[in-house]
Amino acid sequence: MFKSNIIALAVTLTTLSIAIAPAVKSHAEERPEVEIKSQKLTDGIYVLFGRGGNIGLSVGEDGAYIIDDQFAPLSEKINSAIDKITKAPVKFVVNTHWHFDHTGGNENFGKEGAVIVAHENVHKRMSTRQEMKAFNRVVEAAPKVAQPSVTYQKEMSLKLNNDKMRIVHVANAHTDGDSLIYFEQDNVLHMGDCYFKIGYPFIDLGSGGSIDGYINALETGLALSNDKTKIIPGHGPMANKSELAAYTQMLKDIRQNVAELKADGKSLEATIAAKPSAKYDAKNGVAFIKPEQIVTAIYNSL
Ligand SMILES: [Zn+2]
Repeated sequence: MFKSNIIALAVTLTTLSIAIAPAVKSHAEERPEVEIKSQKLTDGIYVLFGRGGNIGLSVGEDGAYIIDDQFAPLSEKINSAIDKITKAPVKFVVNTHWHFDHTGGNENFGKEGAVIVAHENVHKRMSTRQEMKAFNRVVEAAPKVAQPSVTYQKEMSLKLNNDKMRIVHVANAHTDGDSLIYFEQDNVLHMGDCYFKIGYPFIDLGSGGSIDGYINALETGLALSNDKTKIIPGHGPMANKSELAAYTQMLKDIRQNVAELKADGKSLEATIAAKPSAKYDAKNGVAFIKPEQIVTAIYNSL
């Protein structure tokens, strides 16, 4: 069942996987060596790392629920990784936003009976053809079974497995449909792509993202956290609150520098040349989004 989607999606994924998923090369999501690794965070919560966005997994007396599902060709591997933790089928998939490297498995999990949950704007984007100008890509509407059938506007929760999973919308951040997901009892926070631990974030202005919304999302994440919170970033290894705070401060600093240059009447080219992110470039500007890309996104967002 899963294999039927590979060919159709592989064409679309080639560019998107490079653009959206860090450190992913052409067809990397199909390579046999892609391995789904799981890490236990609490008795009931795990994180799965593979290619694409990090997956959160809740297991317990009510079954299994996941946050995001990477690329379609990985669904079987994701299922077998989950199978090692629980024999329960995946009842819900909660998408943090509409991007392919987080929702690519929706069709497969949907066909297996999972209910897809996401912000209303994720449904809007996945049910219509999207032009991603930043990457010169067109993404066709997803099949109905892959689209969220349960949507919300501001906040909703799933009370399952002896925890309350809060799904909190943060407006116009990485996209216009981002959710932060916080497990109150387990004290685990999934930031989706409102936190790229591997470096500068991709802010998808074409999908309604903005620098001020992104910073607000980070601050919302900080407000939900305490020093013991286990934080799952959209990409990269696990994080804690002090790392999230440092990341927030970094983006505030760069935003401030870019805003000052723009207010002085500097063009985008002159702003890039002034290197307003220089202090952070060696650590954050090498993995995925380069210094000129984050500066451009911030400049165009102000
Ligand atoms: Zn994304």
